[in-house]
Amino acid sequence: MRYQSTRGGASKLSASEAILKGIADDGGLYVPETFPEALDLNVCLLDYKQKAAEIFKLYLGDYTEEEIKECVEAAYGSESFDTPVVAPLEQRNGCWFLELFHGKTLAFKDVALSILPHFMRFAAKKNKLDQTLAILVATSGDTGKAALEGFADCPGTAIVVFFPENGVSSVQKLQMQTQEGDNTHVVGVLGNFDDTQAGVKKIFLDPPEGFRFSSANSINIGRLLPQIVYYFHAYGQLAQKGAIALGDEISFTVPTGNFGNILAGYYAKRMGLPIKTLLCASNENKVLYDFFTTGEYDKNRKFVLTASPSMDILVSSNLERLLYHASGAEETSARMKSLSQSGRYFAPENYPGFAAKHATEEECAQGMKEMFEAGYVIDPHTAVAYECFKKHREETGATEPNVIISTASPFKFTESVCRAIDPSLPEIPALEGALVLAGLAKSSVPRQIEELGWKPKRHGAVCSKEGMRQEIESFLVGLR
Ligand SMILES: *Cc1c(COP(=O)(O)O)cnc(C)c1O
Repeated sequence: MRYQSTRGGASKLSASEAILKGIADDGGLYVPETFPEALDLNVCLLDYKQKAAEIFKLYLGDYTEEEIKECVEAAYGSESFDTPVVAPLEQRNGCWFLELFHGKTLAFKDVALSILPHFMRFAAKKNKLDQTLAILVATSGDTGKAALEGFADCPGTAIVVFFPENGVSSVQKLQMQTQEGDNTHVVGVLGNFDDTQAGVKKIFLDPPEGFRFSSANSINIGRLLPQIVYYFHAYGQLAQKGAIALGDEISFTVPTGNFGNILAGYYAKRMGLPIKTLLCASNENKVLYDFFTTGEYDKNRKFVLTASPSMDILVSSNLERLLYHASGAEETSARMKSLSQSGRYFAPENYPGFAAKHATEEECAQGMKEMFEAGYVIDPHTAVAYECFKKHREETGATEPNVIISTASPFKFTESVCRAIDPSLPEIPALEGALVLAGLAKSSVPRQIEELGWKPKRHGAVCSKEGMRQEIESFLVGLR
């Protein structure tokens, strides 16, 4: 299995080379040359680690079975996830929720970022890399912490994380700023997420000398592959619970920002998982909703800060991969050029199996309240998906089982969750909010949140959009 750029202008690479490289030299993203043959659906019934290994074998052509097994064992054990199921499926209020927040940082990014450093470790060995591998990350909140946890003190690597200084939740910020590990550096950027992501992309295309850079963002194919696994896992759990028979069609609703999560669902579908609809759920930054309903992608609009910050994105990087699969490199390249020149492009192809809806801030709060009253606390991202699913079901009369991808623990977003559940509550600082939420939810505060109260803040750097390069250089030179 080889990987090629969505823009067609870079040479084809093996899996390990593509993972090390992150983004292609022509600015494109790596995609598999072809999709593997349809998987036997019995794979869905294997345990999480076995299922992951079966799927990775199909994509990681230059990794041995032993290496894949070692990566999977290291990533999905009890030190990283609080349940051996990794991603449990819960039925509440007539809906299925796939809980992807049982990892170290309480968000779905842990599923991919707990294994990416291991993929990279073997990739570095295979490609005889002798320089420090510097991982650059732009984060809208959750990727940053998950990547920091994955790479902290990982030999041969250093990691620099940039986040929009005023665009993440206070828990997210504290999680990153208290990160340990001498090879970690965390910087707030005076700009929004799109500025931050554009800054990092620019550095990849013209990197400072003397280091080898890679990406832990979902532009890296090594981030995408681990996400395919939990679509099969959700399907297997539905079958084990007797809700479906192997072969039945199901649908997924995915709270979407950078389009990485839902794209992994599309890959699962291309590998034979019987998915009827992938419902793309947007918050008020509904650029993807508009795209799927009109064929026009247009980022020229007001950027809204919402209660679901990890979806506050106007340039959804991974959509480029879907465009490529729908219409090839030449078209994709032209559209990406148009995006960088005018901020818009027209791509009116059919995207079979995709549907889109969006939810307002008010609906999102309403969704959290409604689920709370039904005995289940959900975070704002999951609430956006829940509201979108209800609209979709009402409109289409869909009756097949639908799995809502639950992307974060409500304890990461205590302020908005508490206020949605009880609007009479005053504004409460994040960590006190966790105690209030634990009271409301009759559960306990997760250890990962509790420890933020006493962990020293180790990172406080802030820079301008133009200052990102300087931050990287001085940190990396200091490490030498
Ligand atoms: C990253 C994230 C999303 C968006 O996922 P994409 O892959 O960027 O579409 C949604 N919810 C949460 C909690 C996230 O951390």
